[in-house]
Amino acid sequence: MTIQRTLSIIKPDATKRNLVGKILAHIEDAGLKILGTRMLWLTENQAKEFYAVHKERPFYNELVEYMRSGPVVVTCLEGENAIEKYREVMGATNPENAADGTIRKLYAESLQCNSVHGSDAPETAQTEVSFFFNDESLFTY
Ligand code: GDP
Ligand code: MG
Repeated sequence: MTIQRTLSIIKPDATKRNLVGKILAHIEDAGLKILGTRMLWLTENQAKEFYAVHKERPFYNELVEYMRSGPVVVTCLEGENAIEKYREVMGATNPENAADGTIRKLYAESLQCNSVHGSDAPETAQTEVSFFFNDESLFTY
């Protein structure tokens, strides 16, 4: 039993369809605690840097463009096994493969426009949380 932090991003396809509240409800209902959250519109550099791990992939430019097609809501979550738990709440990357009741099954439009991001491992979670939040903007309560 490990208490972890992870980063969630509600992506532009979801913010544009007024799904922020519904998605945050899935997160809270799963017992994940919101330590900090805010809306921002990624710059080109932020989108490129955030997804730098995918820069050799054929869809990289399209992904960066999509992530800048509207605002995003970034949220730092905390809980027991939060990283894996949030990946379960999100569902598979491709909504066609996502389990019933998951965010992506319910709301994703396509493989690319799949409504949410979640960190995939402890190292990436730490890097991704600090990409958007400093310690003063996260609350333990
Ligand atoms: P995730 O960790 O489940 O978000 O998936 P990945 O890290 O593999 O991919 C990052 C994001 O890139 C995904 O969430 C999708 O938005 C997008 N993506 C992944 N695979 C593809 C693809 O084959 N084509 C396109 N256009 N986008 C993709
Ligand atoms: Mg990923």
